[in-house]
Amino acid sequence: MERLRSQGIDDLAVLHAFDVVPRHLFVPEALQLRAYEDAPLPIGFGQTISQPSMHARVLQGLELKPTDRVLEVGTGSGFQTALLAQLSAQVYSIERIAELARRARFVLDALGPLRVALRVGDGSVGWRRYAPFDAIVVSAAVVEVPAALREQLVVGGRLVAPVGTGTEQRLMRLRRTPTGEVVEDLGPARFLPLVPRATSEEAG
Ligand code: SAH
Repeated sequence: MERLRSQGIDDLAVLHAFDVVPRHLFVPEALQLRAYEDAPLPIGFGQTISQPSMHARVLQGLELKPTDRVLEVGTGSGFQTALLAQLSAQVYSIERIAELARRARFVLDALGPLRVALRVGDGSVGWRRYAPFDAIVVSAAVVEVPAALREQLVVGGRLVAPVGTGTEQRLMRLRRTPTGEVVEDLGPARFLPLVPRATSEEAG
């Protein structure tokens, strides 16, 4: 994707993943003609599929290896889930809205045998059963990275999350090292907020 390249995405594996995962399958039928614009699009339930350049920055920031096991918080449309599956060995993804998870499962299954486990629930507590993970990606904005997620990262693991509120968000990468955590700012971000379990409501 030349447009992503011109936006500073130079990780060839990431660029290749965008070439092989058809984004139009992950957006509502009425919006499929717009699927290849660099824009977020509504996917129902007040949620959006992020813009491709944002996904690309997130994926590049995760520094995935083909052997990595990845946790994704906020499956949404499942588009990023499919990209992650291209770039890693196994993806575990959690979505709080059951209908979005169901649709994502349907599209992911149609794409073929991708190694993706989906679960409906609150992703802010991670997925202990399969922890620790080589990489964790949070697809909704948090005020601070939940401790449970940081604990489910291997030493050497990377976590990428939008941190902040409203228009004041930064894409942050947290790297777990033998001597502690190293945090880097990967630039501005714009995500919907992560919904904590206590106030969750399955509307729409
Ligand atoms: N990468 C996805 C992003 C979807 S938007 C895409 O591009 O399609 C963020 C998603 O996070 C929404 O589907 C929302 O329902 C989900 N979400 C919000 N809070 C959550 C939580 N606590 N646990 C799991 N999923 C959550």
